[in-house]
Amino acid sequence: METGRRLYEVAVAAPLATTLTYAGPIGQDQPLPVGSVVRVPLGGRQVTGYVLGEARPDAGALHKVRPLSEVLGTGPFFPAGLVPFYRWIAQYYHFPVGEVIRTALPLAPGLKTYRRVLVTGLGNEEDILTVAAPASWPWLQRLAAAGQLGSAEVRRLWRNPPERRTLLSLEKRGLVRIVSGFELAGGRAKTEAVLQPEGRLAELLGQGGQAPDASCFDSETAPLRRSECKLLGLFCDLAPSFPDHVVPRAPLRQAYPNHTPALQRLVARGLLSLHQRAVLRDPFAGLQRRPCPVPDLTAAQKSALASMSAAIRAHEFVPFLLFGVTGSGKTEVYLQALDTALALGRSALILVPEITLAAQLERDLHARFGELVAVLHSGMSDGERIDQWQLVLHGQARVVLGARSAVFAPLADLGLVIVDEEHDSSYKQEEGLPYQGRDLAVLRAQLAGCPVVLGSATPALTSYWHTQTGKYQLLHLPARVNPQPLPQVSVVDMKAGQQPSRLFSVQLLAAMRENLAQKQQTLLFLNRRGFATFMQCPDCGHVLECRHCHVALTLHRAQNRLLCHYCGYQLHPDTVCPACGSHRMLGRGFGTERIEEEIAAFFPEARTVRVDSDNKKNRRTMLELMQAMRSRDIDILIGTQIIAKGLHFPHVALVGVLWADAGLSLPDFRAGERTFAQLVQVTGRAGRGETPGRVIIQTCRPDHYAVRLAQQQDYVGLYAEEIELRRQLAYPPLTRLVNVRLSGEHEAEVERGAGAVAAFLRRKAGPVVVLGPAPAPLVKIKDRVRWQLLLKSSDLHALHALCDELCSQKHRLCPRNTTLQVDVDPENM
Ligand code: ADP
Ligand code: ZN
Ligand code: ZN
Repeated sequence: METGRRLYEVAVAAPLATTLTYAGPIGQDQPLPVGSVVRVPLGGRQVTGYVLGEARPDAGALHKVRPLSEVLGTGPFFPAGLVPFYRWIAQYYHFPVGEVIRTALPLAPGLKTYRRVLVTGLGNEEDILTVAAPASWPWLQRLAAAGQLGSAEVRRLWRNPPERRTLLSLEKRGLVRIVSGFELAGGRAKTEAVLQPEGRLAELLGQGGQAPDASCFDSETAPLRRSECKLLGLFCDLAPSFPDHVVPRAPLRQAYPNHTPALQRLVARGLLSLHQRAVLRDPFAGLQRRPCPVPDLTAAQKSALASMSAAIRAHEFVPFLLFGVTGSGKTEVYLQALDTALALGRSALILVPEITLAAQLERDLHARFGELVAVLHSGMSDGERIDQWQLVLHGQARVVLGARSAVFAPLADLGLVIVDEEHDSSYKQEEGLPYQGRDLAVLRAQLAGCPVVLGSATPALTSYWHTQTGKYQLLHLPARVNPQPLPQVSVVDMKAGQQPSRLFSVQLLAAMRENLAQKQQTLLFLNRRGFATFMQCPDCGHVLECRHCHVALTLHRAQNRLLCHYCGYQLHPDTVCPACGSHRMLGRGFGTERIEEEIAAFFPEARTVRVDSDNKKNRRTMLELMQAMRSRDIDILIGTQIIAKGLHFPHVALVGVLWADAGLSLPDFRAGERTFAQLVQVTGRAGRGETPGRVIIQTCRPDHYAVRLAQQQDYVGLYAEEIELRRQLAYPPLTRLVNVRLSGEHEAEVERGAGAVAAFLRRKAGPVVVLGPAPAPLVKIKDRVRWQLLLKSSDLHALHALCDELCSQKHRLCPRNTTLQVDVDPENM
C-alpha cells in the first residue's frame, strides 16, 4: 500500500462484529468526515460502509489494508456525536455496528441500493457498436450526452436481461461504471417547474400587482391568441399569492389542462420564463397553522416544569418520570419545556408511540414552533423522510417529533428528550435490530448530557421501579386540568346472569342507547392483542396457565396441545378446569369485526366506524377520523388499542370495554401490567369535555387485580401488587431477560440447533438461568420455524458476557440455513 493515504475506521453494513480499516482515496488533503457513506470491498463483494473516524496508523496490519472503492454522495449523513451512541447500541444488543447505522439512517430498502450508471470516458462509436445492439443505441447516446443515467432508467434497463447484459459488457471493457448508491447521496431533490414573469409582464406586476388586461400586450407584435390571454390571466391571478410572482406550473395545468402550446408561445415571446426549482417534500403541506393559546399552568404543572427547566439550563442528564393522570396536561408541560430548550439554542427530541395517533401533537408543535419542527416516521414517503432528515442534519429543524426510530434523528446539541406514553409497547422494535426506543432515548439523553422526560398515566413498571430506587426522579400530576373528575367506572361480570349476547351486557346496551339518545359519542374498545386462542372455563372464568411460569397456555390447534411459550410445558386441551372441575373448557377469542356486525343489528341508525390494525390507518385518515369525531359525524367508534392511546375526543361520554380480560390470557408475564394500562388509558378517553364520563368494563374476571385496580384507577396499588409477583417469579425489573431465537425453514434443523445452543448455554451459564428451548409463540412465520430460549439473570454483566460468547460461537452451534437472533430485554415472546 502506498504511503500518504489516510486510514479510516469503517463500519460495514454486514454481519461483522468489529469495524474494519480501509485506506482513503489517493492524494486527498481533506480527510473524509465522520458520517461519510462509502463502498468498500469485503471478500469478493462490494458493501456499503460508514466512516466512524480516522483509524490510527497502527490499526490492523497495514499491508492488508485495502482501499475503499468509492465515496457516496456529499456526506456526512450523520453527526459525529452519534458514533458513541451507535457503538453502545451495537454492544448492548449484540448487533453489528454497521447494521445498527443502517437501521438508524432514514432510507427505505428500495432506496438503499439503487443503481446509478456513471460513464468513465465512454469509448468511440466503434467500441460501442461492438457491444451494443442497435436497440440500445438511444440510451447509450443519452448516457454519452449526460454523463450518467437517472436511477429510474437504470432500474428499467436492469430489469431487461439483454439490456443488462449490454451494460455489464460495457462495464467489463471499462466503458461505463455501474455503482450502487443512495438516492440521498445523489442529493436528488424533488423539483418542480415554476413560471416567472419576464420583461413587460414583470414590469406590470411590479407596478400594481393587479392582474393586467391581456390587451396590454397585443400592440408590439402579433395579437395574443385567446388561449394565451387566458393563460396570462390565470398567471396574474395566481401570481400575487406566490412570492416574487413565481407560479408553480401545476396549478396552471390544473386550471387549464391543455396549456402547453400556449405556454410555449408565451415563453417564446419573452413574457414568461420557465425554471426548475428544488422543493422539499413537506409533510405539513395542507396542514393549517392555527394559533395555539398558551394556558396558565396549574400549580402541579408549574412545579414539574420548574424541575425540568432547571435540568435543561444546567445541561445535565436527569431522567424524569412525569406520572400524570389522563387529562392532567402533560402535553402542555412538554411544550413549555421544549420552549425552554429551544430558547437556549438547543435542539429537542419528542417520541410518541405511533405517529398516526400523534396528529394532534404534531399540530400543536407546528403551531408553536413552526418551521423548527421536523417529523420522522415510517408513515411518510421516503422522499419526505429524507428531506426532513436533511433539515435536521443541517440544523434548520431543531425539534424532531417521531415514532421510535426518530431516536436516531441527527440532532446536534440536544437539550431535551421527551418520551410520551412511555409505557407503550410500540416503543419496542421486533424486526431487524430489536431495540427499545424508550431505553435508547434515555441513553441518548445521557450521552448528550441533557434531561429526559418519560411521561405516562400508567408508567411502565420498570420506569416506576427506577423512581423507587432513586435512578429516576418522579414528577406527579395528580389531577385533571379541567374540573371534570375522572370518569365513573363500573365493572360488569359477564359470567353472571343472562346477557343478550356474548359480547354485550344489558348494562352496556342500555348505556349506549341512552348515550345515543343524548347525541353523545360512544367508544367501544376490544383489547385484542395477539393471535392465538387460549382456554377459559365458562363456569368460573379460570384461564389455564403454566404451572412454572404464571402465563396462559396457548392452544396450538395443529398439534392439539396447550403449550407454554416460555418453558415448553404442555397439556392436552381436553382437560378439566383446575379451579372448579368443570369439563366445559372453551377456546376463546374474537375480534372487532364481530362487534361491528352486532352493533349494526342492535343500533341500525347509529353511525359506526371501526378502526384497528386490520384496516390499517395512515396519518391522513387518522386526522380525518379525529375531525369526524370532533364534529360529531360518528356516534360509535369501535377499535383496538389504537383508539385507547392519547387521543382527545371532547364529546365521548361513554366508553365500553368489551372484554377486559382478553389480554390477561396472553402468554406474557406483563399481561397484568398491560391490561391495567390499557383499561386506564381507554377510561381516560371519557369525559374530557363538558359532559362527565362513564365507563363500563365487561369482564369474566372481575376479581383480577388488574381489573379491580383499573376500576379504581390505582396505579400505585397495581405497582405494589405487580412488583411482588415479579419478585416471586424473578422477572423484570428484578431480573434481566434475553430471548435467544433460532429460525429456519426446517423444523428438525431448528430444533436440533436450539438443542445445541441450549446445551452450550447451560454449560457456560454461571449465574444465568437458561429456560427452554421451546417453540416460539408464533412458531411459523413466512415459512420459517422459530424456537426460543430464555436467559434470565439479575447479573447484567454475566448475562451479556454469555451473549457475547454465544454470538462468537453461533456459526459453530447453529445448523446451516438457520438464523440466531438475540433479543435483549424482550417484550413479546
Ligand atoms: P394528558 O396528555 O395529560 O392526558 P392533555 O395534555 O391532553 O392531557 O391535556 C388535556 C387538555 O387540557 C388539553 O385540551 C389541554 O389543552 C388542556 N390543558 C392543559 N393544561 C392546561 C392548563 N394549564 N389550563 C387549561 N387547560 C389546559
Ligand atoms: Zn372453572
Ligand atoms: Zn412455563
